[in-house]
Amino acid sequence: MSKILIVEDEEAIAELEKDYLELNDFEVTIENSGDTGLAAALSENFDLIILDLMLPGIDGFEICKRIREDRNVPILMVSAKKDDIDKIRGLGLGADDYLTKPFSPSELVARVKAHLARYERLVKSHTKENDVVEIRGIRIDKTARRVFVNGEEKQFTTKEFDLLTFLAENPNHVYTKAELFREIWDMDSIGDIATVTVHIKKIREKIETDTSKPQYIETIWGVGYRFKV
Ligand code: CA
Repeated sequence: MSKILIVEDEEAIAELEKDYLELNDFEVTIENSGDTGLAAALSENFDLIILDLMLPGIDGFEICKRIREDRNVPILMVSAKKDDIDKIRGLGLGADDYLTKPFSPSELVARVKAHLARYERLVKSHTKENDVVEIRGIRIDKTARRVFVNGEEKQFTTKEFDLLTFLAENPNHVYTKAELFREIWDMDSIGDIATVTVHIKKIREKIETDTSKPQYIETIWGVGYRFKV
């Protein structure tokens, strides 16, 4: 259910808008002053904001500007004066739409629906799928930096995660400890190639069923490690 914030000091108008929106299955919150309206807009995740221009406290111009500095939520500005609407457009505050009072509640609902649909399309087109490496029951979500072993999430430190990901992305390739150390750790970091051994041990404890018989990261004696596929 989409959440709508109405910032409107005239309570009768706010209630009327709320009734119509609720009839259309929206969840509605009303704030009657500029200050509480801005605070609500910045602290909660609303799907759309209906913002009156003239308000006690901070006015709609300022609220719109402040919300835009922080969020992409669609903003529908309403005002009793046609002149003000022209002024807001001219200022380029980033409002998505404008309505002059009085407007019919059904027009408001239609505009709200149109903007939510447009916004949803926009968000979808910008959402990229996560970059995932998957090998025999191990799923490494590189974007979210999460690792799942047979569906169960395991916690990895930054370097453990980097090392596992590097090996899994380069399977069947034997790397020496020195190569892995150079690849994963900064040149000036404290530690030595023994760090690699310690990290491999920790990773195995999380991904292997039996660490004495590793199924994923093999030790190639005298050389280094290899991720088996
Ligand atoms: Ca007002």
